[in-house]
Amino acid sequence: MSEPGQEKTLAEQAPSSYECRACGYVYEPAKGDNQNKIAPGTLFTDLPSSWRCPVCGVSQSQFQDIGAKGAPSGFAENLNYGFGVNRLTPNQKNLLIFGGLGLAFLFFLSLYGLN
Ligand SMILES: [Zn+2]
Repeated sequence: MSEPGQEKTLAEQAPSSYECRACGYVYEPAKGDNQNKIAPGTLFTDLPSSWRCPVCGVSQSQFQDIGAKGAPSGFAENLNYGFGVNRLTPNQKNLLIFGGLGLAFLFFLSLYGLN
């Protein structure tokens, strides 16, 4: 239960990420762990004791606190991800998709014509 007025900024409340020392997998609390049905927002320290590295399977004792990774810089990365596509209007996306299909079709036809 969080009371109104006690909300913290993302940077302040960003919990620590933990890195697997065996394989380099990083558990980010903001993302959780889909594979093991860990809901986004679950702190590493709140993970069930049965939780293991989803990549290599080592136990939690092999994980190392690497600090808040999902803080503002992390969000900036997410914003940049797919930036080029997100700037396109839906019409431009359609043009890209159908234009691509048309080109593929023409390419196919030209190959067919060679035979
Ligand atoms: Zn691992």
